[in-house]
Amino acid sequence: MIDACLYRRLFAELAAIGHAAGGWNRMAWGPGEDAARAWFATTAEALGLEIVQDPAGNLWAVEPGGADGPFDAVGSHVDSVADGGAFDGALGVVTGLVAVEAARRAGGAPRPLAVGAMVDEEGPRFGAAIFGSRALTGELDVDGVLARSDPDGSVLRDLAALRGVTAETLRAAPAFLPRVASWIEVHVEQGRQLVDVPAPLAVATSLAARERWRCTLRGVSDHAGTAAMAGRRDALVPAARAVLAAHDLALAEEGAVATVGRISALPGSTNQVPGEARLSLDVRAPDQSAVDRVRDGVHAAARAEGIETEWTLETADPGCVFDDGLRAALHGAARAEGQAAIDMAAYAGHDAGVLARHIPAAMLFVRNPTGISHNPAETASEEDCLAACAVLARVLVSRG
Ligand SMILES: [Zn+2]
Repeated sequence: MIDACLYRRLFAELAAIGHAAGGWNRMAWGPGEDAARAWFATTAEALGLEIVQDPAGNLWAVEPGGADGPFDAVGSHVDSVADGGAFDGALGVVTGLVAVEAARRAGGAPRPLAVGAMVDEEGPRFGAAIFGSRALTGELDVDGVLARSDPDGSVLRDLAALRGVTAETLRAAPAFLPRVASWIEVHVEQGRQLVDVPAPLAVATSLAARERWRCTLRGVSDHAGTAAMAGRRDALVPAARAVLAAHDLALAEEGAVATVGRISALPGSTNQVPGEARLSLDVRAPDQSAVDRVRDGVHAAARAEGIETEWTLETADPGCVFDDGLRAALHGAARAEGQAAIDMAAYAGHDAGVLARHIPAAMLFVRNPTGISHNPAETASEEDCLAACAVLARVLVSRG
């Protein structure tokens, strides 16, 4: 049922966009994502689908006559992080196009089918990850996000306007959501669980609750030789305690992970006591109460006499549980295709995680032999990707 040649060709075409020596660069709101969106539109139209841009800027390739919905959608995103991999996002869009083509050739589905390419999923440029889905579901702080600028001084409001996306259209975007009856996202695994099982596929059970913080600790910079140890107000010491607390507290919570990925000491010289320290904190866990415990513990560990500590919440997401019916359908289709599929909790943000709070949504992960993601080393075998296409197509045609 699956056209392997079509899969191979579409994947190669999309992988050719934004590919350079260091990896794949299709940063959102720039020429890389623009080129990938243009490829998506041209390719979908060549397959007989109609392109609709929703008021948030997401592209939908819909079966002819189905654009007003409700339609059953599959897809992902075509933007990437800087020097990212070939599969993150791209795999969901390509498997979506191939599965919809297979479903149509097999006689079609009960409802019109669509493939979605969601805008700015990764978010490193403006700190507005999962932009398209959050706009569509009314979860986006429209004015706050549009006012943001990237490190080069480009303002998101200006770049969005080039695509016809404005504060007005973004505020109207939730009215489009009822057209999307359901959403299934195929995604390359961003860890090694499937390699270890081993199994080619996993159906996501839930998406972790997560928070990102930044912290500034202010003490007093002093002479590294003459300042006595007892009276020092070294800002890096409580910062270091926070790093260790994040590690230890997450280890103590079932399924929790915590990371301090960025830390700096100022003035930053060998013979000065650090007067200021800055750090980031990322906490994720299957349920919010575990996130609460880890975060509160880290905040407590960073407290120190004579040091002023300021925590700022950058993003928070309560996570989601994926749709039981779609999960059962994916497992049933995998069995029918003779493919092993396990259940797996997801820990990274995805469009499906936002959409699942509003419409039936599900995710299917494909084994990644390196276990690495957001890196050019991320990969998946063609055999496993074709298995995902087959499972997806079977779900699409069998749903009533
Ligand atoms: Zn992704």
